[in-house]
This record gives sequence, C-alpha cells and structure tokens, in this order.
Amino acid sequence: MTKVAVVTGGTRGIGKAVSIALQQQGYTVAAVYASNDCAARQFSYETGIKAYKWDVTDFNACQRGLNQVMAQLGEVEVLVNNAGITRDTMFHKMTPEQWHAVINTNLNSLFNMCRPVIEGMRARGFGRIINISSINGQKGQLGQTNYSAAKAGDIGFTKALALENASKGITVNVLCPGYVETDMVKSMSQEVVNTKILPNIPAGRLAQPEEIARCVLFLVSVDAGFITGSTISINGGQYLV
Ligand code: NDP
Repeated sequence: MTKVAVVTGGTRGIGKAVSIALQQQGYTVAAVYASNDCAARQFSYETGIKAYKWDVTDFNACQRGLNQVMAQLGEVEVLVNNAGITRDTMFHKMTPEQWHAVINTNLNSLFNMCRPVIEGMRARGFGRIINISSINGQKGQLGQTNYSAAKAGDIGFTKALALENASKGITVNVLCPGYVETDMVKSMSQEVVNTKILPNIPAGRLAQPEEIARCVLFLVSVDAGFITGSTISINGGQYLV
C-alpha cells in the first residue's frame, strides 16, 4: 500500500529537500505551494512529485486540497508543516498586514492543515506530524516579533497536539533550524551573512536543506515512535537550550 506524505512549501528550499527525501524513502508525496508556478513546474518535472497549489492560511482551501490529495493518492500518513514566510521590520514600524501574514502562514496554517487529517490518523492508529519552526521562535530576533511569535506558537502547538495523540500512535514533533541556505536566506545581503550571521554559528557555516530533511526522515520512521512532543534544534551550535 502506498504511504502518502504531504509537505507544505514542498516545492522550494527546505520543503523541496524534504519532499525528495520522503520520495526516496518510498512515500507518495504531495508538495503544496502558494504562488510560484514556475518553481513548482520545474520541481515536478525534475522529481515526478505532484505539486498542489493552495494557500495554507485558508482553512477551507486546506480542507479541499487535502480531500483532493486523499482521493488521488490515499490517506495521509505523514504531514510536514513547512510553509513559512518572513515580513521583517521593527515592531514600532510593523503594519497589521505584516503581523497577520506571518502569523497566518507560520502558525494558523498548522491548525488548517492538521485539523482535516488528525481524525483519520487517530482512527487508523498511526500518524507522523512534523512542524518546522525556527531558532528565532526559541530565542527571539530583532525585527521579527511576528515571526518569533508564530514560531514559538508552533512549539506550544506541537507539545499540546503530541499529548492529545500519543496514545493513538501519532507523533508530533517540531524542528528549529538555524540558518539554512535557501531563497529565504539568499535574499539577505552577502555582507550581512558574512559579518552578522556566520560569526555567530559555531559550526562556521549555514545548514543545507538536506540536513533538515534527514532529521524529518528519522522522525517519520517507525523507529522514532517514542519521540513525540520534542523540540529539536538544528543550528550548528548557535543556540543551546
Ligand atoms: P522558502 O522561502 O525557500 O520556501 C517557502 C515555501 O513555502 C515555498 O514553497 C512557498 O510557496 C511556500 N509557501 C509560502 N507561503 C505559503 C502559503 N500561504 N501557502 C502555501 N505555501 C506557502 O523557505 P525555506 O525553505 O527557507 O523555509 C521553510 C521553512 O523553514 C519555513 O517555515 C521557515 O520559516 C523555516 N525556517 C527557515 C530557515 C532558513 O534559514 N531558511 C531557518 C529556520 C526556519 P511558493 O513557492 O509558491 O512561494
């Protein structure tokens, strides 16, 4: 029987690496994206993975999209909530739009995506949910009250959902990457990366998306069945909790 995994933001960056790793592990993957059709087409062409376009901030769109995935591919066994955005600015200059966009995409999306699949996972007695938070949800970051709040919210959500579902064979865990070499980081100037970011990472380098994907692969495995509600830092030693 095919095992189905859904990866939000699955067509670029960390999500792309996760989608490919899960496919190589034998999963039929549905990669969800928001608007970059060009990147999604290229991704599907390269990998053969089906890309689905819907907005994870919209509960009805998530419900419709997940119903379509289930009808076409099968029941969802693995859900990786990875879609995220930043809208950085100091709080005293932040607009309500910047606040809500980041909270909706990075936090409310977890409700929107988990709610339609959790009852099925409970009924089948198995599920793996992995949420992608951030080091900045653990420690806070200048210019990111919106992002830090959303990512910290992901951690609390993960713990509560893990407690509710531990007896049903479902694990829920959250990863907190440090800086990963994706478009999100490439949008920063090289000077900022060299002078402000790299000197603060004891490992002396950025993470590669595949390093996050390998952690996801372990967490979805049957061997990781006793790991739930965990917050896992992947940050090259930048922040130790
Ligand atoms: P990218 O910007 O490279 O990719 C983001 C992905 O999310 C894209 O596929 C994008 O779709 C999708 N997406 C964004 N908004 C929505 C939405 N509303 N609905 C559906 N899909 C959406 O991000 P990264 O790979 O860098 O980051 C992935 C996750 O990891 C994020 O949650 C981020 O906060 C977190 N993270 C990243 C770090 C880093 O250094 N890169 C560090 C710590 C955490 P589209 O292609 O259509 O735009």
